[in-house]
Amino acid sequence: MAIERTFSIIKPDAVAKNNIGAIYNRFETAGLKIIASKMIHLSQEQAEGFYAEHSERPFFGALVAFMTSGPIMVQVLEGENAVLAHREILGATNPAEAAEGTIRADFAESIDENAAHGSDSLASAEREVAYFFSAEELCPRTR
Ligand code: GDP
Ligand code: MG
Repeated sequence: MAIERTFSIIKPDAVAKNNIGAIYNRFETAGLKIIASKMIHLSQEQAEGFYAEHSERPFFGALVAFMTSGPIMVQVLEGENAVLAHREILGATNPAEAAEGTIRADFAESIDENAAHGSDSLASAEREVAYFFSAEELCPRTR
């Protein structure tokens, strides 16, 4: 199995509910290592750029408004098959459809405010990591 890196966001709803630590615990329990992390409050431009692929969707305005409504945590996670492993513990986009025990099932209320983001492919992960982190900010684990 390949060691991969993927990108994670703890969204404004989960930060507001003080669920940062509980969600970090899910990553670590799943064997994913946090190799970079910071809190930021997205500008309109940053949120629009991050979600550019959804710019034609009807929910785009609501998504950008939500993502700029409060601070978020952004992380880089490293581990075996990290992209898929992270998507699995995240659960389906709509928390009502997310499997029991997943982050979205346990920490999210609705599809509009669904607690966390995870890259959907290695290519997305590379783009998304680079969107928020410089190479110097990544701290690969050597021990
Ligand atoms: P993800 O990869 O599971 O996060 O899902 P998508 O890439 O399809 O969508 C990105 C984000 O847009 C989701 O996590 C939701 O926050 C939001 N979103 C997706 N579909 C809807 C929708 O039908 N309505 C609203 N309000 N937000 C949505
Ligand atoms: Mg997506």
